[in-house]
Amino acid sequence: MDLGIAGKNALVCAASKGLGRGCADALAEAGVNVTICSRTEADINATAEAISKAYDCTVKSVACDITTDAGRKAALDMTGDVDILVNNAGGPPPGNFRDWTRDDWIKAIDSNMLTGIELIKATVDGMMARKFGRIVNITSAAVKSPIAILGLSNGARTGLTGFCAGIARDTVREGVTINGLLPGPFETDRLRGNLEGRAKSAGMTYEAMYEAAAADNPAGRFGTSEEFGKTCAFLCSAHAGFINGQNVLMDGGAFRSSM
Ligand code: NAP
Repeated sequence: MDLGIAGKNALVCAASKGLGRGCADALAEAGVNVTICSRTEADINATAEAISKAYDCTVKSVACDITTDAGRKAALDMTGDVDILVNNAGGPPPGNFRDWTRDDWIKAIDSNMLTGIELIKATVDGMMARKFGRIVNITSAAVKSPIAILGLSNGARTGLTGFCAGIARDTVREGVTINGLLPGPFETDRLRGNLEGRAKSAGMTYEAMYEAAAADNPAGRFGTSEEFGKTCAFLCSAHAGFINGQNVLMDGGAFRSSM
């Protein structure tokens, strides 16, 4: 399917690997001019080169911390007029809420709520003026189905979700949609790190923990970054202009509800 977005400009945040990388790949494949960012210079440059080669295009890269003002400015300056914004950043650590200080909360809110809001603020009026825009926030299945030890993530990401639910109804008339894409368990370095920690505390091997966690999902496996990226690209496509203010859960059906 032609996604109808060739030639648009996209900024995909936190995209040297994992879910952000999957989105950058799929948008580049659709002919979008993609700019990607993450903190580690060698990694983000290598990823841009790999995607450029794979799809015979030029992917721009910025080494920056997207949770800072300077990082956001660098990423936005490199992209130019942003038509497609994929908000993403590292997730806060798990823990016990009794141990979290105000600073821990501010850091989580900065990364997973205010960074997305600042980037929307910087780009949405231009999108509305040009009568086309797509904003996809990578949040988490925990927004719908919270997990206690991920309280920092639950809180901050739900804040972003609530904010976007309000403004999405004002932007869509000008052709700008805002949606959340909610990952359940996807096989990325982050998930592998979590499984290693869980295996250690349960006294299991990594392989045994991997098998058990995958089997626990109705699909009997984890999701892939490719599946995630292609779903993101569809939400960013010309065909998805009537999908707005939604939170699309990708979890293999782990969240049990009838609708
Ligand atoms: P990942 O494989 O660890 O990749 C994270 C990417 O983000 C890397 O490119 C990393 O590069 C970059 N990054 C991290 N912090 C950044 C910052 N402050 N500024 C710019 N780039 C930054 O993680 P992932 O699994 O793709 O997860 C992406 C997001 O989805 C996270 O918020 C995660 O919590 C959430 N999520 C993931 C899953 C899952 O199963 N994978 C499930 C639910 C939610 P650098 O370190 O070089 O900056």
